[in-house]
Amino acid sequence: MYRVALKNEDDFAGWRKAARALALADIPPEQVEWQVGEGGDLFAGEGAGAAPPDPPEGAEFSVPRQFMTLAEDAFAHPDKHRFEMLYELLLKVRATPRAIMDVGDPLVSRLSAMALEPRLEALEKRNDKDAALAELIVEAKDCKRCPLYKDATQTVFGEGAASARLMLMGEQPGDQEDLAGRPFVGPAGQMLDRGLREAGIDRAETYVTNAVKHFRFEQRGPRRIHQKPDTSHIEACRWWFAQERVLVRPPVTVALGGSAAHALLGRKVTIGRTRGEPIPLKDGLEGWVTVHPSYLLRIPDKTKAEEEYGRFVEDLKGARKRAKELA
Ligand code: SF4
Repeated sequence: MYRVALKNEDDFAGWRKAARALALADIPPEQVEWQVGEGGDLFAGEGAGAAPPDPPEGAEFSVPRQFMTLAEDAFAHPDKHRFEMLYELLLKVRATPRAIMDVGDPLVSRLSAMALEPRLEALEKRNDKDAALAELIVEAKDCKRCPLYKDATQTVFGEGAASARLMLMGEQPGDQEDLAGRPFVGPAGQMLDRGLREAGIDRAETYVTNAVKHFRFEQRGPRRIHQKPDTSHIEACRWWFAQERVLVRPPVTVALGGSAAHALLGRKVTIGRTRGEPIPLKDGLEGWVTVHPSYLLRIPDKTKAEEEYGRFVEDLKGARKRAKELA
């Protein structure tokens, strides 16, 4: 058994050094005991077996940057098992770098939730919520939590005041939003604006965002064709969406389309069955579901398109009424 003695709860540098030495020596997680506050050497095991054996000459490895980001953030969580969980994930990711993107993996999912928790708690305590939102926007510009940043032009963060009583949430930025760096400014945005006006909602008083902040597309000749984000992208980007929600805490959030509804409710839903009714959310707030405005643009039949648009406006009116009731 190898025993690692970290200087204190925040000794990430110590964890990193020990984890690297142990991984290079191929020590399995069950043979490592992690302790805090013992003082003295990093490796405090018994006898000669205290420190892992020297790795073979030239032995090296690297892990994706996403792992280090997650490890540093999760390290701030008080869970006493975080050291061994992170070491276990390190070994997984060293063997299969893509494992860090596997949000279905219970270890990745648990550590991601742990990484987020201290952040959300700190944001809840902030009095200057608009300033905190502005800081998030700057930070999100460099986000590399999932591969979508590689091909997109820029991060398209949410827009609006922290005091907004209504949040409107789409799936992801489209072609024009990607270029402009603002959500809902293309044709779907114009359709949304029209619907909002008819529902008596001032867009300037809402917070408009997307579940995923980078544009996912397929290049076909000169055209960039929208591609739905995967669950892994939605889960990775929950990092930002969760922080936006804690800062804005809108009494009502309207999910525009299936992917947004999935991200908001944490499960897949059929829009036809869930629209028009308030849905209680885990954070104690309320969700509404309606179609994405781009769906309205794609309906070829004029009569059907008008009918669907009417239902969309009715959904928005319902959400507005509810936001007023809850204000
Ligand atoms: S889509 Fe979201 S999680 Fe992925 S890189 Fe962009 S901002 Fe980060």
